[in-house]
Amino acid sequence: MPHAIRIVIDAATATAATTALAICLAWQPPIGAAETKRNREEYSPSASSASIAARRGQTLRLTLSPARRQPNPIELPKSLAELRKTAGESYLCAQRGNFLVAADLDRSEYEYLIDGVLDYCATALSRVFFDKGPAPGTIVNILIFRNYDSYETGLRRFLDMEPISPYGHYGHSQKYIVVNYETGPGTMVHELTHALMSEDFPEAPIWIAEGMASLYEHCRAEGDVLRGDDNWRLPELKAALDANSLTPLQTLLAMPPSVFRGRRESLNYAQARYFCKYLEEMGLLPAIYKGFRNGFGQDPTGARFISQAFGKPLETVETSWKRWIAFQHWKE
Ligand SMILES: [Zn+2]
Repeated sequence: MPHAIRIVIDAATATAATTALAICLAWQPPIGAAETKRNREEYSPSASSASIAARRGQTLRLTLSPARRQPNPIELPKSLAELRKTAGESYLCAQRGNFLVAADLDRSEYEYLIDGVLDYCATALSRVFFDKGPAPGTIVNILIFRNYDSYETGLRRFLDMEPISPYGHYGHSQKYIVVNYETGPGTMVHELTHALMSEDFPEAPIWIAEGMASLYEHCRAEGDVLRGDDNWRLPELKAALDANSLTPLQTLLAMPPSVFRGRRESLNYAQARYFCKYLEEMGLLPAIYKGFRNGFGQDPTGARFISQAFGKPLETVETSWKRWIAFQHWKE
């Protein structure tokens, strides 16, 4: 059945591809369920807010941002010798397990990053969660840049791409981490969590992928394990709790990436992070993660594993979680 939707393209910069995307979205019934193909590093122009707002019979007004340049499928180094050759003399290079690391940091900062952050966090996270480990021969390039200028230049040089985030990102298909180190080592731990999880639980839904990556972006070491600390995502979460505008937990667990990264992206990250933090504080995060990973086929949202781990219905878990949020505090 044809849909009575008028499409207005509002951008002088819209390319043929973005226009085609808009038209494809408009033809998917119902529009609210339209799913844009958007993986972690190859972002398509976002039309998710339009896809949520549009209904049959309405005008669909799309304000499209310029198309982000997608990375070319260039070959990344597969050995330390190749990395040294590609990186040149201004980068310090090392190999740690299946990670090849290049960074244009001072030597003391570099050593702290390699030994104090990368080694420690990768070991702790792998022991507690990601115990399947990567397939033999898997190499992940980690490229660390000391400030935004270096990051922008380095992305062009190593990957022939422009930044898609001011912080950094994990390139899922090419297996690399890039970090603007000006944003702190937490960014590297966030992306490291993605890199480890993508090998261990490649089907992981976005709530647990971003929830756990965001949890460990601000963490502390307790013996040989990591614990998430409160961080800057808390005030937005508490404000939404006070305004009774949190997304229901069941909805968050089933949320597709295009909606998660849509209009309420920042709040979705905060909810996912603080739900994972709650599971961690209840001592249940490792069991839920592994149960979910191993039984993903029977429960693609994780709701059943959460409910089983608590021995309570999900709605009861949600009520307790909200009560717990109200008692969390963060000071800048
Ligand atoms: Zn992330």
